[in-house]
Amino acid sequence: MTRAYNFSAGPAALPEEVLIQAREEMLEWGGARASVMEISHRGRDFVALAEESEADLRALMAIPSNYRVLFLQGGATQHFAQIPMNFARPDQVANYVVSGAWGEKAVREAKPYVQARISASSLDSGYTRIPPRDGWDLDADAAYVHYTPNETIHGVEFREIPEVGGMPLIADMSSDILSRPVDVSKFGLIYAGAQKNIGASGLVILIIREDLLERCPVNIARIFNYSEHAANHSLFNTPNTWGWYLASLVFKWLKAQGGVAALGERNRIKAERLYAAIDGSGFYTNPVSVEARSWMNVPFFLPRAELNPLFLEEADARNLIGLKGHKLLGGMRASIYNATSLAAVEALIDFMGDFARRHA
Ligand SMILES: *Cc1c(COP(=O)(O)O)cnc(C)c1O
Repeated sequence: MTRAYNFSAGPAALPEEVLIQAREEMLEWGGARASVMEISHRGRDFVALAEESEADLRALMAIPSNYRVLFLQGGATQHFAQIPMNFARPDQVANYVVSGAWGEKAVREAKPYVQARISASSLDSGYTRIPPRDGWDLDADAAYVHYTPNETIHGVEFREIPEVGGMPLIADMSSDILSRPVDVSKFGLIYAGAQKNIGASGLVILIIREDLLERCPVNIARIFNYSEHAANHSLFNTPNTWGWYLASLVFKWLKAQGGVAALGERNRIKAERLYAAIDGSGFYTNPVSVEARSWMNVPFFLPRAELNPLFLEEADARNLIGLKGHKLLGGMRASIYNATSLAAVEALIDFMGDFARRHA
């Protein structure tokens, strides 16, 4: 068996060290004499894992003490709806800044629960840039401002955290959490599905400023109520224990790599090399404006769409997988999250150069 260089957008590559450790601990985890999947989430062993993983994430992201960290389920998509359920009244307005397909989906899911208003959008550019801040039309009385710092499909990423005055800023960081340092104190809420840059699908991490939990209404089912989950330390009901365990291993791995600052530097280099190879090829193109290009997801296009199947077939033969672009855009997409090494990116660049020379 040969593990390939994996550029899948999500679920995505995990660090090999993490997979090896998970394999070694599959039958007996720690002193539990059972798999981590086979023990009570309320027992001492699992509770210790839960506490340590939260402490590790807090250290990695420098999360201030007035933020709560939740380990929940439902994917980011469920939280598109659950966020307005908790933090807005149905008659209230919420501002949505849309810079790609996931921002659009967030609006759609929010609509039953809040007057979701598109305050800025870069749809007119085909989501190849972020809407310039001076054109945002923010309703100042709105419940919050929601945006997507990294659009996984369109490969568009904010470089800066936008200023939005006193309104809570809510960020769907599903595909860029832990990819570089961020100032958590600028946010009301950060949330992220785990399957891009953390671990396995089925786990969602939320980092919520404590005062916002006072907004959670009592007339929603407790399972949807973030303050209920916070009061129960994410153990209101049975959590995704396996996903939580994998995340805990990834956090240890990130610490061993030198933390988020070191990863950010590595991610910058990976992205710069790949974009330079695309731009310098005279063959491949990436349509995103340079200042908004994602460090995590790199869509690129061949000069003739007829070449796509051959590109994918040859890439596969070279042990490069997960490159097929999202169906919305076609073409290719290389996702280069934390677990994707510089060696993987170099192998992709080598292949792309070789393919371009033969088909130019
Ligand atoms: C993948 C992704 C989602 C959706 O995640 P699910 O787990 O499928 O709900 C939402 N937002 C962003 C930015 C994503 O990359």
